[in-house]
Amino acid sequence: MVERGIKQNLKKSMLFVSMIIVLLSIFLGVIVFIDATNFDNPRNDSCLSFTFDDRLESHYDNVYPLLKERNFGGTFFVIMNLTQFEDRDLMSIEEMMEMQDNGFEIGSHTLTHQKSTELEAKELEKELKESKRILEENGFVVDSFSFPYRNYDDDILEQANMHYNIVRDNYNIDTGGFLHNSEGVFSTTNIDELCEKIADAQKKNKWLILVLHGINNNPGYWDLSIEDFNKLLDCAEDSGIKVKSLRGCEEDIGMFGTLKFSFMKKFIKPKEIGF
Ligand SMILES: [Zn+2]
Repeated sequence: MVERGIKQNLKKSMLFVSMIIVLLSIFLGVIVFIDATNFDNPRNDSCLSFTFDDRLESHYDNVYPLLKERNFGGTFFVIMNLTQFEDRDLMSIEEMMEMQDNGFEIGSHTLTHQKSTELEAKELEKELKESKRILEENGFVVDSFSFPYRNYDDDILEQANMHYNIVRDNYNIDTGGFLHNSEGVFSTTNIDELCEKIADAQKKNKWLILVLHGINNNPGYWDLSIEDFNKLLDCAEDSGIKVKSLRGCEEDIGMFGTLKFSFMKKFIKPKEIGF
């Protein structure tokens, strides 16, 4: 009798364990399915993010008023240790704060703007962590990060994701996780072609992320003239696409956009593009 009782109890607990395993498998299966579906980018809406690197004064002087005028959002990636940038015109903390107060996003572009793959592990950690800490100490809400020179590798990406929800990236696919593909815009960029891409993103529910540097009347290679920038804003407005910061698009695009991880990213190898 006792033996039968033990056997029955054993049977019950085995059944219970099996049920847990089945439920867990279903749960994991659903997550993988959502993630895999997202890999092909079937978002439920489209979004356009203008992002600006390097804390340039022209961002405050020229970009900020133009975006604000149209009710567009944007993300500004800033460097926090300026010792190597003394010869450049950069935005002040107060100017950056005014932009945040007006709905714009301030993200980290590291402390000193170095190539991540050339740094010791400890230095890299400092570049990732300290830049965020200093920004937060100054009252900024920091979710996003971009690598200087788009320079990183697999391990560095893992490390960056420990500190930031959104990492702007240079893959030609949108993983739907924390990594987001972006496209550079320079003085040589064909604005009409870019306008077609914006219209296409709007039509196909894509999230298009553009990377810009200086916006001024005397554009160097990495910059864009104010005239071309205005043209770009015109066609963004005409397309009807939502123009938001990275955080804004992330929040807006729905549950796919807010997934903080991606199984698929394990299968994608990062590459280095030097700029
Ligand atoms: Zn940069």
